[in-house]
Amino acid sequence: MLNRSPIGLDFLRRHQFELVLFLAVFVLIGLAGYGLARDRIKMVETGHKDALNIAEAVQLHISGELVRATNSVLGVRSDLQGNPGASTRLVQASLSEAMRYDTVSALVGADHGGEVLMVDRAGFFINQPAMASALKAAFRTLQANTVQPLPLIHDDERGIWYLPLALRSVESSRDADVFFSLVPAEQLVEAAASLQLVTDGRFGLFTGDGKRLFRYLSRERAFEIRPAPVPPNLLRILAAQQSGTFESESSVDRRYDILGYSHSDSLPLFVVVGVPKRSIEIAWLRQSAVQLFLLLAGTIASIVFGLRLKKAVLDLQGSHSQYRQLFRSVGDGLVILNRDGVIQKCNQAASRLLRVGSEQDLAGVNLFHLTVTDRDSAVVESRGLRQLRKLQPGETRTHDWQFRRVGQSGMVYVKLHLFASPRDTDPFVTALLRDVTAEREHLARQEFLARHDALTGLLNRSAFLDHVASRIGGHSDTSFFVAFVDLNRFKDINDSLGHHAGDTVLEILGGRLSRVLENRSGCIGRLGGDEIAVCADPREWAGGVAEFCQELHAAVQKTFTLNDANFEISASVGIAVYPDDATDAEQLLRCADIAMYSAKRAMIPFEYYSQKLDCYAPRSLTFKSDFARAIRNGDLALAYQPKVRLSDGALVGFEALARWTHPSQGAISPGIFIPLAETTELIYPFTDRVIRMAMRQLKSWSLLDPRVSVSVNVSMNNLLHRDFVAQVRALLAEFDVSPEQLELEVTESALMSDPDTALMQLCQIRDIGVRLSIDDFGAGHSSLAYLKKLPVHILKIDRSFIASLMTEEADRRIVESSITLAHSFNLEVVAEGVETSDVADLLTNMGCDIAQGYFYGRPAGAEAMTAQWLLSDATHY
Ligand code: C2E
Ligand code: CA
Ligand code: CA
Repeated sequence: MLNRSPIGLDFLRRHQFELVLFLAVFVLIGLAGYGLARDRIKMVETGHKDALNIAEAVQLHISGELVRATNSVLGVRSDLQGNPGASTRLVQASLSEAMRYDTVSALVGADHGGEVLMVDRAGFFINQPAMASALKAAFRTLQANTVQPLPLIHDDERGIWYLPLALRSVESSRDADVFFSLVPAEQLVEAAASLQLVTDGRFGLFTGDGKRLFRYLSRERAFEIRPAPVPPNLLRILAAQQSGTFESESSVDRRYDILGYSHSDSLPLFVVVGVPKRSIEIAWLRQSAVQLFLLLAGTIASIVFGLRLKKAVLDLQGSHSQYRQLFRSVGDGLVILNRDGVIQKCNQAASRLLRVGSEQDLAGVNLFHLTVTDRDSAVVESRGLRQLRKLQPGETRTHDWQFRRVGQSGMVYVKLHLFASPRDTDPFVTALLRDVTAEREHLARQEFLARHDALTGLLNRSAFLDHVASRIGGHSDTSFFVAFVDLNRFKDINDSLGHHAGDTVLEILGGRLSRVLENRSGCIGRLGGDEIAVCADPREWAGGVAEFCQELHAAVQKTFTLNDANFEISASVGIAVYPDDATDAEQLLRCADIAMYSAKRAMIPFEYYSQKLDCYAPRSLTFKSDFARAIRNGDLALAYQPKVRLSDGALVGFEALARWTHPSQGAISPGIFIPLAETTELIYPFTDRVIRMAMRQLKSWSLLDPRVSVSVNVSMNNLLHRDFVAQVRALLAEFDVSPEQLELEVTESALMSDPDTALMQLCQIRDIGVRLSIDDFGAGHSSLAYLKKLPVHILKIDRSFIASLMTEEADRRIVESSITLAHSFNLEVVAEGVETSDVADLLTNMGCDIAQGYFYGRPAGAEAMTAQWLLSDATHY
């Protein structure tokens, strides 16, 4: 959608905050500026008032002084008026008389009959012809009958400036007489100067018609005579009123002043006082500087803080929306609850987990009312509420919660994490709900698989042995038996009807045998292939072991119907009794096995173990010594089976598989001689032999293809032997084979017998550079957590899962999850027992890395492998 709002409006909306901020600052500055301007105007006004006051004061003072001098002039005139012919003596007497009362004038005089006479304050006549002639010249401008101030004249003898006040008296008969007084100008200034004029002020005295008589500068304390006529425009202002103020620039020094003026009432003169405007401005500035500075600092600070505030708000909005986004998109359920369990808010994952409508539908609903558990819902609610209310601020609690969704079967397992807000004012609790149902089911399945045989659901070998061992450990007075059941000609079923049929038979048989034990103590385990073992208490059958065997045979011999075909099978059973035959689980089983072998040879349904059977059994002493001799004499051979990379069909390497041909009994299955080796000390020389043979072969193959690898199976006892790692290292050196070309296969069950030592040994093997794989994965009982810790590179999925991949949905899921799991631990996955192209294709699709099995090649001698895989052009499958 297009945004239709005009750009201007959009800008305003986006920058609202800055606009408000700047407006506020602007108003602030305006108010402060107005205040400052008002202050300035007030100060200038005061300056004017001061100037006026000072002007009036100075004028009154000067006028007052001069009026007193005027009185002397007027007194002399009245003495001599109407007496034009008065003698010089008479004039002198009158002058002396006037002087006696005059404290202002320095000299009083008259221009009488063309002669200038002057008397000083002491009554002496002063004869100064220069001054007299200067006075005579000045008198010419006098008008008649008014006392007039005249320009200052200088008394050269005394060095004094006098202000003359003169009066021309007009007589009709003769030339006018002039009477005058000379006032020392500085004397006038003294008093005025003592007035508190502004430090930098000045004042001047002017004649009525605008001639300056003198000027006084307060700053320089200088008295100055400079006849400067007032410019006509100013004179007009000065003449307009008796007193007043104005502002003007001085023509003398260009200083800008506030000028106050005042005209004298009694004499034609006026005073002008100048106060420098700058001093007012400086005072104003001094007074306002602090304000101005504060205003400026305030403005800057408010802008800076405002912008930071804005940034903080934006950041907050940003993180708020991030949290909202997180809340919405996170895969776990998030619910905000109050302390009563009422949902305030939740995300979509939560509503999906609880299967209740939308997020909105959940608001206001009590979390504990939504779900039903196996227990009474009231109990659950109160337990949940207790948990909620117990939460302290900032506390986190985790607990497992299981419930059934309303209207649904099947348990839902949830990990519930409760987080209380760290602020105790915040009453809400955040609950994180993680659905761990699939995880738990997977784990439960893995745990089950770890203890059980995947095909029949019976215990596996190690779980069976554990059971027997615990039975032995339980009570010393117990007596029980172990029956070893081996089907006769089971191979025929596999060969004629296929492996699937064989598996089905085993499955059905597992069920039938379980029913034999129903309501009795005891257990059944599948030891591998068609071997099944039963552990039971003979006292639970009236006829003892014999009756048990009958029931067992009956169960085995019952007709099987498969693919519309009916057939029957039989079994050979060997019985060993605790504690008569052996006192530990492994030995009991071995004894039962020997008895079974004897029964099979004798073709009888069952046989009890006895000491004498030992020498005829594969596990017998003679058999064992034959095997020991074979190892010593190098009568063992290795068959090799190729391993192929699924993505491109390229050869990866070979697995070495031991072969033994007995001098009289012919080829012996590894299923027989390997357990013999593993349960005796023969395993050490045996494995040493096998690794030597494999390395010698590897050395010659690596000349043809340096990448080829050979894997060798090693048993638990090899791995647990403390010299094993050193031995492998020595053999690598002896055959000059690079460690990464050698691979050791260890079964899961071997690892689990002593996990700590195994882990330590595996780490050392990994450190010398030899690759490690876990063999028969899925058939053993390793825990996932443990596998994760192992320093292995390869996981070999047990062939029992691969065989049934096309038919068994469950196995397919196990294989798929094993591949995913292995990849998540960075392991390569090998599938064993791949017999058909369908299985190979399926495994390729599942992402399995490597395959091994009859489809690619049966185990065969080294020459055959060399010819087929290393010398032919087609080294790819
Ligand atoms: P394994 O390590 O799981 O070896 C693979 C077995 O599966 C071999 O049986 C092999 O012949 C068989 N096999 C290979 N491809 C297929 C297939 O497509 N379908 C079927 N049904 N089976 C297939 P073999 O040679 O009888 O060995 C049996 C077991 O004996 C081995 O199982 C291994 O655990 C043990 N073994 C063999 N040689 C040695 C050895 O030198 N040392 C040790 N410790 N154990 C060995
Ligand atoms: Ca193997
Ligand atoms: Ca295997």
